Amino acid sequence: MTVRERAAKVKLIAFDIDGVMTDGKLYYSDDGRELKAFNTLDGQGLRFLRQAGVELAIITGRDSGAVTARAKNLDIHHLFQGVADKHACMSALLARLDLDWSEAAYMGDDVVDLPTMQACAFSAAPDNAHPTVRAKADFVSAHRGGEGAVREVCDLILAARQGKLHD
Ligand SMILES: [Mg+2]
Repeated sequence: MTVRERAAKVKLIAFDIDGVMTDGKLYYSDDGRELKAFNTLDGQGLRFLRQAGVELAIITGRDSGAVTARAKNLDIHHLFQGVADKHACMSALLARLDLDWSEAAYMGDDVVDLPTMQACAFSAAPDNAHPTVRAKADFVSAHRGGEGAVREVCDLILAARQGKLHD
């Protein structure tokens, strides 16, 4: 199956946060709060995907108020933070939405993301991902995390779905 064919099957996509929706750096304020920077291009791509009927999710190992705010801003209701087992989290979400792994996608940057990525129909990694993840992802974006990597994947899925409709 080609990357495009895999992307066309996606009905739910989940994203890691650090290194995918952000540059992977953890910024701390003097009072110890964690700060993250997100990308508006990514945000618009996610809105387009949701308008096309794709379910969006965030599954991250860390827990941050910045992520809660960003998810609210993007209207992403499937938000899971402080997750130790991402595969189990994704599995439970798919069951709840009555979807199958063959309709799921995941974008991650580190080896802890691999079990989830490899179970999905379509997996993506940003340019800055760990070499092992880069090697195993179906698609590696030209952009780095936090710099449009997510938008690239959104655009790919949208184009694949439109191609499917027109075929
Ligand atoms: Mg990460």
